[in-house]
Amino acid sequence: MHTVVETDVLIVGSGPAGASAALALSTYGVRNMVVTRYAHLADTPRAHITNQRTMEVLRDLGVEQDVIDRATPQHLMGNTTFCTSLAGEELGRVRSWGNDPLVQAAHELASPTRMCDLPQHLMEPVLVNAAVARGTDLRFSTVYKSFVQDEDGVTVTVEDRLRGDEYAIRAKYLIGADGGRSKVAEDAGLPMGGQMGVAGSINIVFEADLSKYTAHRPSTLYWVLAPGATVGGIGAGLVRCVRPWNEWLIVWGYDVTAGAPDLTEEYALAVVRRLIGDDEIPVSVTSSSAWTVNEMYAESYASGRVLCAGDAVHRHPPSNGLGSNTSVQDAYNLAWKLKLVLDGVATPRLLDTYDAERAPIGKQIVTRANQSIAETAPVFEALGGFSPQTPEQMWANIAARKDATEDGRKQRAALREAIAFKVYEFNAHGVDLNHRYVSDAIVPDGSPDPGYPRDPELYHQPTSRPGSKLPHAWITSGTRTLSTLDTVGRGRFTLLTGIGGDAWVRAAAAQPLDIATVVVGPGQEYEDPYGDWANVSEISDAGALLVRPDGYVAFRRSDAAEDAVRLLTDALRRILGHD
Ligand SMILES: Cc1cc2nc3c(=O)[nH]c(=O)nc-3n(C[C@H](O)[C@H](O)[C@H](O)COP(=O)(O)OP(=O)(O)OC[C@H]3O[C@@H](n4cnc5c(N)ncnc54)[C@H](O)[C@@H]3O)c2cc1C
Repeated sequence: MHTVVETDVLIVGSGPAGASAALALSTYGVRNMVVTRYAHLADTPRAHITNQRTMEVLRDLGVEQDVIDRATPQHLMGNTTFCTSLAGEELGRVRSWGNDPLVQAAHELASPTRMCDLPQHLMEPVLVNAAVARGTDLRFSTVYKSFVQDEDGVTVTVEDRLRGDEYAIRAKYLIGADGGRSKVAEDAGLPMGGQMGVAGSINIVFEADLSKYTAHRPSTLYWVLAPGATVGGIGAGLVRCVRPWNEWLIVWGYDVTAGAPDLTEEYALAVVRRLIGDDEIPVSVTSSSAWTVNEMYAESYASGRVLCAGDAVHRHPPSNGLGSNTSVQDAYNLAWKLKLVLDGVATPRLLDTYDAERAPIGKQIVTRANQSIAETAPVFEALGGFSPQTPEQMWANIAARKDATEDGRKQRAALREAIAFKVYEFNAHGVDLNHRYVSDAIVPDGSPDPGYPRDPELYHQPTSRPGSKLPHAWITSGTRTLSTLDTVGRGRFTLLTGIGGDAWVRAAAAQPLDIATVVVGPGQEYEDPYGDWANVSEISDAGALLVRPDGYVAFRRSDAAEDAVRLLTDALRRILGHD
């Protein structure tokens, strides 16, 4: 082995987790390098739902508009449609991804951003291009092999697949963002809960103009119940829109105990034809691949100087669209902490909070995504159940919902209820946004936990209590209207206060690190003409919120304080791991 290359942070993997870690680090001016196995980024659509929290992260990192320009907009994600084939009978729909009028209002109230649908093969280039433009050293065709860590850093052995040799990279920290089969997490000995391979799935990517069956009921997902499908499978599949309305991905289940079927083009075409239900439509299959549904999460995300993010530490099915969202958010939580530790502003104890804050969320989303799969069963049951019945019986069950009988009425009601219950997968605003952190980088203010008066999975419930994301409110600065979220981020802490909060402003200026100050009130740089901020801030004009670079409230005082300098200094000492 020859050559030792040096960097501050080495990232293994260029998926959503690795690419956004690189982007955030480069944005903050941290020297970083990405090694990635293949000569290309993701070449299939994979993850696609991009939720509001991820869009907020991308907004802060300056790529929100690039994503919007490439994405399918929210209004075209409007439904999840259940049918017997795209050309066949429709069984019902559930308004999805923020398109129910009430949920849409909740989305508008929660964030300056909108959900969108950007498949992974289009998202990764946005993240990676921006990261490289800002300084990331990216090495394709470079495979992580092993690491050794000591007190000062990590030495990583990689294989250059072009030259066929190995070399060493010396970094202060290593981020394992190497996906669901993470070797970094394995080598780091991260403890895992749950299990891999709980079910089998096949992705088939194809092109076909399906506008005639889809444009009038725009959906990201069309669930097809296909009793008696003559191709191996469990009789149910998902037709997912990649680009409206001519690029598609089918997710087709297979019996994992029997192993994946042989993915010939003939097999793929048969599945596609069955789910479309119209053989006249020209179809071109682009690729097919088998994967397994996993239910696994790491109990801990770090071992010394090795930190893992994304699917490396949470592996789950695509339900609820949480895969790349959670991966981007992991990276965003980690990047500013690494920056402050590398700059010597914080001690390495700040990095312990990465694990404390993100591991509970990883476990929660793995559980939610798997639960959403189980919650599709009542839709099948409302139609009389599938196996072990014959296909003929199943078709008769599906037809029976049209009967003018008491049984028919009951079946219609059961089907409506089962489909409506799928809001927990397709409109779970709380799952996307209600992340509240408890760690040493959060200073409790002694207020009682407000809990969740409404269903925490369905409804976003903002609060400024330390550990929560800064509530969004529209404020103004001169002629500009901006979100409170636009006043924070960019790698800096921000102190928000109002008229009468001068002592807090002075206290922020007295700190050894750069803290932005935002004073909201009449005649100030920022004004609150709608009174939105006054309604959601949960502090008086003379109170203060100290917001971390990732937009989370770290410290709150609801009113003026005589000893603002001491209070803020003590809070920052705790947050930065000096206590
Ligand atoms: C084939 C496939 C299909 C999927 N389909 C869907 C879907 O339909 N819907 C959905 O929501 N989610 C899907 N997912 C999951 C989704 O892609 C992940 O949740 C998301 O990408 C997680 O991001 P990540 O950055 O953690 O990992 P990944 O996107 O998996 O990225 C891992 C990165 O690490 C690199 N890498 C791995 N090992 C090494 C190594 N030893 N050395 C160097 N580089 C390495 C890889 O090349 C890749 O760049 C799919 C995943 C795969 C693999």
